[in-house]
Amino acid sequence: MSIRIDPATGLKVFDTRAAKATERIVGKGYSIVSDLSLKTLPELPAGATFDAEEQARYRTYKEARRGAADYMAMEGEFAKYLDDVYSAAPVPRESLSDECEILVVGAGFAGLLLWYRLKAAGFVDVRFCEKGGDVGGTWYWNRYPGIACDVEAYSYLPLLEEMGYVPSMKFASGFEILEYCQAMAEKFGFYEHCLFHTTVEETHWDASSERWIVETDRGDRMHARFVILANGILTTPKLARIEGMETFEGDAFHTSRWNYDVDLAGKKVGIIGTGATAVQVVPELAKTAAELYVFQRTPSSVDIRDQRETTDEERLTWAEEPGWARARRARFAKISAGRTAMQANDDYLAGKVADFKQRKQHERKLSMEEMLDKTLDTNFRIMEQIRARVDAIVKDPKTAAALKPYYPYGCKRPTFHDEYLPTFNLPHVHLVDTAPRGVQQINARGVVHDGVEYPLDVLIYATGFQWMATSTFNMITGRDGRTLKQKWEEDGTRTFLGIHSQGFPNLFIVSGPQGGGGSFNFTDAIEAHSDYIVWVLETLRDRGAGSIDVKAEPEAAYAEHCRKADIASGPLRDCLSYYNGDGDAEPGSLAYYGGNRWHKFRVEAQTTLAPYVFDGDSL
Ligand code: NDP
Repeated sequence: MSIRIDPATGLKVFDTRAAKATERIVGKGYSIVSDLSLKTLPELPAGATFDAEEQARYRTYKEARRGAADYMAMEGEFAKYLDDVYSAAPVPRESLSDECEILVVGAGFAGLLLWYRLKAAGFVDVRFCEKGGDVGGTWYWNRYPGIACDVEAYSYLPLLEEMGYVPSMKFASGFEILEYCQAMAEKFGFYEHCLFHTTVEETHWDASSERWIVETDRGDRMHARFVILANGILTTPKLARIEGMETFEGDAFHTSRWNYDVDLAGKKVGIIGTGATAVQVVPELAKTAAELYVFQRTPSSVDIRDQRETTDEERLTWAEEPGWARARRARFAKISAGRTAMQANDDYLAGKVADFKQRKQHERKLSMEEMLDKTLDTNFRIMEQIRARVDAIVKDPKTAAALKPYYPYGCKRPTFHDEYLPTFNLPHVHLVDTAPRGVQQINARGVVHDGVEYPLDVLIYATGFQWMATSTFNMITGRDGRTLKQKWEEDGTRTFLGIHSQGFPNLFIVSGPQGGGGSFNFTDAIEAHSDYIVWVLETLRDRGAGSIDVKAEPEAAYAEHCRKADIASGPLRDCLSYYNGDGDAEPGSLAYYGGNRWHKFRVEAQTTLAPYVFDGDSL
């Protein structure tokens, strides 16, 4: 029985978690590297400045790539790349046409955390729809060899204390994180609330009943008073549009649907893309494939990782320190420089020292422009050091030259690895530099570049995901008959806190455009968003109100703030990357770059209630 009634609550409960497709899907993340030379950085070049010559060089590098990014959705004959390879067939169930109070889309970190918080606040009529066959979200779909988190796990995994869990490694593997998600779901009774293998296709506001009507690919037509979109920031995989890719006769898959049935041992393997995913995958592929071809358009910045096990001392200390995980995450959130945050100084994070770095005292307060110039200089020095690391490790000068990135640090997602660069010294690993236009031709046998054919048995697409499409890939139609996508296309992206959008009452977006993504620790954002959403729901309950919307003026003011924050910090991200829609995004329409100012807007709204419109207000 996949659906039954819980006699205690009278609510429907579900048993739709899919079985595993195969036992072959196992792996680990970063290894502990003992060779000090691989995890020691060359000296930071003290005097180097981001002068006119270097700025011009960066600009040329950027402009050469303009227009090269050409991606497509996995539709039509490419839809097969979206198949769920991790779970057995969906659990059969009847379609639902009933009502629940809160419907949440997504069962990743945000869904799990929301459930924990909602339940604690007394909201139990909560239903989740999840595309995958089990919980985990990102960590359900991404199971490629080498996967691990890049934010230290002690600050990244939610609810560690509530779970009584300590990650085994500082940068836990994706496989450990997936198991942790499953353990959370079991411990907190999540599974009974979730409809797996269920994709929400349409959501529209029914004004007469003041309910959302949610339709899914399983034939459901459910009514819900509140809908929460917790479906992630990098959810939908994309493919580069490459001529002839449909003709390739070998095995092919995207990294987020890793096909463990394809045995790579002894094979000629190609991988297209060298972003954060590929940097983790390539060293593992090199351990199995007979020949490995890495097709690179733009190199990543590859910093040190210095993976380590959790120490006994940490375990003992944390066992006796109530609030340790939250306190650590809060300290982590105070670090604004990407590199420091990623490397995560343990003494500071453990609360042993008050700050994460020695603060420089400036003689006078610096202007915004001066601060920006200083940051650009610092970022330039970091990149010089990263480039020097390439020279120190990679033996072939031509390969080393191709592996050096020329863009501001952090403008593309920084990566971390101690085995990636040395992989290119192996005789069977070949870097194919396809800069600046990328791979443009594939045939039945493999990839063709610059007139050279690279025959392959297996081709892996490490070509990434749509960024910040959280709230637009299912058709959400609001009060005035427009979809959220239409509204944002016509009026520009407009939200309040990234969570509400006017005309879409009782709809909450977790970590969507203008709401998240600008922070290094996604968990930080979803925690803040979940707390806020629960506060809204409690406020409605206390007031006896039926619905909440936001006013146009505060929404416009908030959108303007997002635009300004994006523009002001823009020079730090002056290259082409998915962060800025490969150069085409309107400022303020994607991730939020206002830092802690988000909290100022939130606190003010919660104090004055001025931005909100409550319907059916009984006060
Ligand atoms: P990305 O979007 O970062 O990378 C896509 C890659 O494909 C880029 O290197 C891009 O080159 C390349 N590419 C696209 N088209 C072509 C082409 N025609 N020829 C050659 N190369 C091409 O995707 P990822 O999956 O690597 O990462 C996505 C995000 O997921 C990360 O940025 C990160 O936020 C997250 N992630 C997090 C991890 C973690 O926390 N441990 C691990 C992995 C991913 P170009 O740069 O020139 O556009």
